Amino acid sequence: MTTQSGNLFIIAAPSGAGKSSLIKALLDRHADGSMQVSVSSTTRAPRPGEQHGVHYHFLDMAEFEQRIAAGEFYEWASVFDNYYGTSRRVVEDLLERGIDVFLDIDWQGAQQVREHHPETRSVFIIPPSLECLQQRLRNRGQDSDEVIAKRMAKAQAEMSHYHEFDYLLVNDDFDQTLSQLEHIVLAQRNRMPVQQVVHAETLKELLG
Ligand code: 5GP
Repeated sequence: MTTQSGNLFIIAAPSGAGKSSLIKALLDRHADGSMQVSVSSTTRAPRPGEQHGVHYHFLDMAEFEQRIAAGEFYEWASVFDNYYGTSRRVVEDLLERGIDVFLDIDWQGAQQVREHHPETRSVFIIPPSLECLQQRLRNRGQDSDEVIAKRMAKAQAEMSHYHEFDYLLVNDDFDQTLSQLEHIVLAQRNRMPVQQVVHAETLKELLG
């Protein structure tokens, strides 16, 4: 039996579907430390307001490639011409401590994680319409028109992988989507293989 008792979740979505806000709101609701989001590494430049170690670990290409070669990533992918990756050490450490971990990653990373860790639950979030997606990308006001246009095209490519995921959420009403995401996470916590580890002592006592 595995000694890991934390659950691993992949949350994927096209840019602008509201993924980061949903994950943040869920973590705020469960501020007891039982859930954490993995901070990825990337070679893309920080956007205004983004902090090293908080939003991402910002690395240069050479450093990132050296870490790929050293096997330091749980998964990694090239997205929008930049590298993105999840630290193996951080994820494994959190799971071993019984903490549920969220990976905010793209479909390529999701495929890698699923292949090696089939017990992972994956959630895909889509906006209610293409028009709504475009509006949300504009409202961010962080990226140029050229970047937004590129992201709209990439969003459709990302969304074409929706069927590879365990759950599909349409983020029309934020609170409702948050509640649905929370239900998925809480149900997963109560699955037998997880509960057997978490409540090993109780089960031992009950069964003699
Ligand atoms: P952004 O540059 O907007 O922060 O992220 C662009 C895309 O890269 C998003 O779809 C995001 O989920 C994905 N991404 C962020 N971190 C990782 C990671 O560690 N691995 C993978 N595979 N994708 C990531």
